[in-house]
Amino acid sequence: MRNVLRRVIQVVATFVTNSSFGFIFTHKIYQGTLKSFCVPGLNCYSCPAATFACPIGALQFLFAGVRPSLASARVHIGSFVIGFLGSIGMIAGRFPCGWLCPFGFLQELAYKIRTPKIHIPRILNYLKYVILALFVVILPLTVLDAFGFGSTWFCKYICPAGTLEAGLPLMWLDPNLRHLIGFIFYNKLAILILFLVLMVLTRRPFCRTVCPLGAIYSFFNKVSLVRMRFVEENCVRCNQCYRDCPMELKFYEGANQLNCIRCFKCYTDSCRFGAIRLEVVGVNLPTQKRSEHAVATK
Ligand code: SF4
Ligand code: SF4
Repeated sequence: MRNVLRRVIQVVATFVTNSSFGFIFTHKIYQGTLKSFCVPGLNCYSCPAATFACPIGALQFLFAGVRPSLASARVHIGSFVIGFLGSIGMIAGRFPCGWLCPFGFLQELAYKIRTPKIHIPRILNYLKYVILALFVVILPLTVLDAFGFGSTWFCKYICPAGTLEAGLPLMWLDPNLRHLIGFIFYNKLAILILFLVLMVLTRRPFCRTVCPLGAIYSFFNKVSLVRMRFVEENCVRCNQCYRDCPMELKFYEGANQLNCIRCFKCYTDSCRFGAIRLEVVGVNLPTQKRSEHAVATK
């Protein structure tokens, strides 16, 4: 039942994020007032149906324009995105990944396709921090064109969400763009196909290994106002939390791990022994009834 609530919120969030259907008639992307605001999840600005901006796109744009902004002594207008991401992270850590991100939702749906499943080596979890540092911060800041502007490297060379939501639909909507197809497009298409295959075979591969937005939110997991707690003495190492977790986490290896997307499935559904608690602003929320029963009869 609780997972149904999460599914409903994921559907609503995906729809709210992509509800500008005017493109069907205009063949142009929406560029009205709402595009000045970011959504909490990863969603391409250039998706024809996108109503809001993508925070990772806005962040790269901010870094790409730092030098010209400093040169002209103007405060860069895009700096709001840092406060936006910091505020969300301080409240709930990676919660947007588990409840609000359309690309995360797509990966969970794809994983439901019945095939043999694989596990990604854990070391790849750290790749997203390299991508965040290199493609979102360092390259946009340092590789500049003749006018002193950087480029949005992650959007341009990696983001499979952008290829799926914007690259392919825009090619279809505007035949004039098709002559631009070249190495960059095929490179991004290959990355998209790779992740479409991987998301069927393994749980949330993009969120775990590549997503720079998840990497940013993950820094807040241990200090956010909403966080989780592990009650060691109640854990029997049954591994049910691991089997249910969309990020393949064993809760007993640490509450609030970097990859925890705060879906709360382990808290609401998996753990029957009361080993997983939810803490909101320092207050422990009650565990479910069956947990108390299991603890009493353990
Ligand atoms: S489901 Fe609960 S009892 Fe089982 S391993 Fe996870 S935390 Fe421990
Ligand atoms: S540890 Fe629990 S809350 Fe975190 S992602 Fe896994 S199931 Fe969801």
